[in-house]
Amino acid sequence: MKIKFWGVRGSIPAPFHAADITWKLEQILALALDVPLADPRRVADFIAGLPSHLLHPVGGSTPCVEVTLGADRVILDAGSGIRRLGLDMCPEQFFPENDLDLINFKENLINPCPPAERNITILLSHTHWDHIQGFPFFAPAYGVGNRISLYGHDGGQLAEAFGSQQKAPQMFPISLSDMGADLSFHSFPEAGLTVGGLTVAALPLPHPGGGLAFRVSGGGRSVVYATDYEFTDDNSRETARFVDFMAGADVVISDTQYTYLESVAREGWGHSTSFGALELAMRAEAGYFFLFHHDPEHSDAKLLDNLEKTRAYQVMSSGSLRVELASEGLSLEL
Ligand SMILES: [Zn+2]
Ligand SMILES: [Zn+2]
Repeated sequence: MKIKFWGVRGSIPAPFHAADITWKLEQILALALDVPLADPRRVADFIAGLPSHLLHPVGGSTPCVEVTLGADRVILDAGSGIRRLGLDMCPEQFFPENDLDLINFKENLINPCPPAERNITILLSHTHWDHIQGFPFFAPAYGVGNRISLYGHDGGQLAEAFGSQQKAPQMFPISLSDMGADLSFHSFPEAGLTVGGLTVAALPLPHPGGGLAFRVSGGGRSVVYATDYEFTDDNSRETARFVDFMAGADVVISDTQYTYLESVAREGWGHSTSFGALELAMRAEAGYFFLFHHDPEHSDAKLLDNLEKTRAYQVMSSGSLRVELASEGLSLEL
């Protein structure tokens, strides 16, 4: 099983800021003080040897995670990160060479996607805008003959939310029905879902307007994707059900949007702290714990600081799982 992060930011896309570049440059220059860089060949070696967090931004795109097992794939959420995933799946140009004519838009479309990429499953945690806003820019949705099945808590509400954000021409120039692909919206089946060698289970989460956590299993591995949730009582029956849902998962990708102080000021907003979420993952005896749905106000420096504090909290609590920061472009093979 392979997991790849295409969007990790919560609430709204948060592009890299000048202050982030300054912070990274300061650290890189400090490291360079002891290295003779007059020889240009040493510069390339020096850059190649820098720690990953100085070379890559944590990422500003909103939630989208890809889980694959061989040729089988499920996509978790359609935040702005799904744009790059779509280009990765179908890199060819999907408009004909003549000027784009919106009136005959659908007739002018061609299918850029290789045959193996034409049946697509997207699971939506919920329809808050940060989890669906990338869909109008998802290239495979413009491929005539592609079939995209979207699953959420309520298929009717899902169709309404996606239709509203592409109400043409007021909200977006191209409506869902003019996108080219065959789109279908479904309520997530109670018995779960099978996509090739992957099986998926879902659990409702406490969040304004509701939400779903997903557990994707295949090849003897499993990953839990649990974003946008807030439990107010660690000992409630609802919390116990959530811990059972995560039990023994190899990977837990969890909402960790707020620091403790922020969570006090934003009680009821529907998000978690890294310490609180980690506690639940430790009770579930998960393998990896990924901090996810990062607050748009949190710089890379703050996120890395929070990662270290969460790791220290885990050591103090005698936990044994690996704590990592979900970053755009990061992938993990299980
Ligand atoms: Zn969100
Ligand atoms: Zn939400």
